[in-house]
Amino acid sequence: MSHTMTIDGQQAQAASSVAVVNPATEGEAGRAPSCSPAQLEAAVAAAKRAQVSWRRDEEARRAALRNAAELVQARIAQIATTLTLEQGKPLAHATGEVSGAAAQLKATAEMKLPYEITRDDAKAKIEIVYRPYGVVAAITPWNFPILIAMSKIAPALLAGNTVVIKPSPFTPLSTLELVSTMSAALPPGVLNAVSGDNALGAQLTAHPDVRKISFTGSVATGMRVAEVAARDLKRTTLELGGNDPAIVLDDVDPAAIAPQLFWSAFMNSGQICTAVKRVYVPEKLFEPLAHAISSVASQIKVGDGMDPATQLGPINNAMQLERVISLVEDAKKHGATIHTGGARLDRKGYFFAPTILSGIGDDVAIVAEEQFGPVLPLLPYKTIDEALERANATLYGLGASVWGKDRERARGVAQEIDAGTVWINQHLALTPHAPFAGCKHSGIGEASGRWGLASFLQKHVINQRHV
Ligand code: NAD
Repeated sequence: MSHTMTIDGQQAQAASSVAVVNPATEGEAGRAPSCSPAQLEAAVAAAKRAQVSWRRDEEARRAALRNAAELVQARIAQIATTLTLEQGKPLAHATGEVSGAAAQLKATAEMKLPYEITRDDAKAKIEIVYRPYGVVAAITPWNFPILIAMSKIAPALLAGNTVVIKPSPFTPLSTLELVSTMSAALPPGVLNAVSGDNALGAQLTAHPDVRKISFTGSVATGMRVAEVAARDLKRTTLELGGNDPAIVLDDVDPAAIAPQLFWSAFMNSGQICTAVKRVYVPEKLFEPLAHAISSVASQIKVGDGMDPATQLGPINNAMQLERVISLVEDAKKHGATIHTGGARLDRKGYFFAPTILSGIGDDVAIVAEEQFGPVLPLLPYKTIDEALERANATLYGLGASVWGKDRERARGVAQEIDAGTVWINQHLALTPHAPFAGCKHSGIGEASGRWGLASFLQKHVINQRHV
């Protein structure tokens, strides 16, 4: 039996379905319907119809989102299990992801919608009344399917848009469950989920009734989405890849920062857009840091996410595993020193040993490109200016971090890094108190908090002259 899509409030099968692979066993995690062109048409049409009344009643929207949050809350265990089976992450992390999404939905239901009066005097009143775009296409990747889905669905719906979401073909099942759960609290058509391959994403983004695209995925796909959107001047938010540098300053204790630095790179088996993907370390600290972080890496329990002892799960899919293997083999050919790991685990499933390597230049692919896997290159530097130049010598600009005891100095270095977010003595700390945005090729537009909400609203000016 296949999972079901949600179209116009109904649970829908399709004429055909595809197997979703469990990356820990290479068996089947479940089956996802392959949405037909007619079903996609029906989903967008339903969203367009539903938006007419959905946008009019803010209090009804808030009430519906509160109810939807309770329904998700009640299903955390079920959705998290599905997420682990199709994505691979440890069940405790999957549970954290789904409960985080439920909490985000609950909090979003109470967010203030922007409204401004910029002039109000005897002659005129000027109001900036923000209004929704209409139908939003939400397209998500496979690394955090539920959290990223909710970061789009919740603000888009509060803003008065309706949504058609298309999850990654590698992890569609948990999103289908999330949407069918939420839709019980929402009017038909307000939130639709369709599943299928990349071509379905392309059809959805090209649909003339879609007025806003919220896309999270790779830079290459993001560019394709932007091209399609440009032909119809659809608004887009693009959250794309990263190659985050961590710059370690010479006043740190390597042993003290090693565990946190390790998890900043390896959480979710390195499959995080803002994971640390390369570490610049002062020459004099290189040996102790390499030793400390390798000893953390070598003690990690890698395994099936359903095993409570597992700390890191498999790589999500065979294609990504192959990419990580080829990047590591290429680094070896360029003379890399493998401090720990370096190969696929000799067992069924897409497991790769947590790997620390060094001894290569910044031009080697594992450093220059986004590895998106459990591999971390360490790169010694002589001067801080050199480290900054190398950290910035990329078209990515998502996150970065600086690790140092002297706060002023660390802040000074942070200011010089080209990235949407620079953390100091931490990484991955996303928060609704700050916008999450990439610079350069890492994205266009913002997610998170009031900035994320604003990305689903357009400015509507009412300029009244008193007569
Ligand atoms: P991807 O670009 O291959 O796919 C993302 C989504 O786009 C999938 O649902 C896919 O089916 C769909 N898609 C593919 N081709 C399409 C097209 N032509 N038109 C419309 N949709 C299309 O990315 P992925 O491999 O699933 O995810 C990994 C990437 O996502 C990494 O680069 C990672 O850094 C990035 N990412 C970024 C963020 C962020 O917030 N900046 C968060 C998570 C992941």
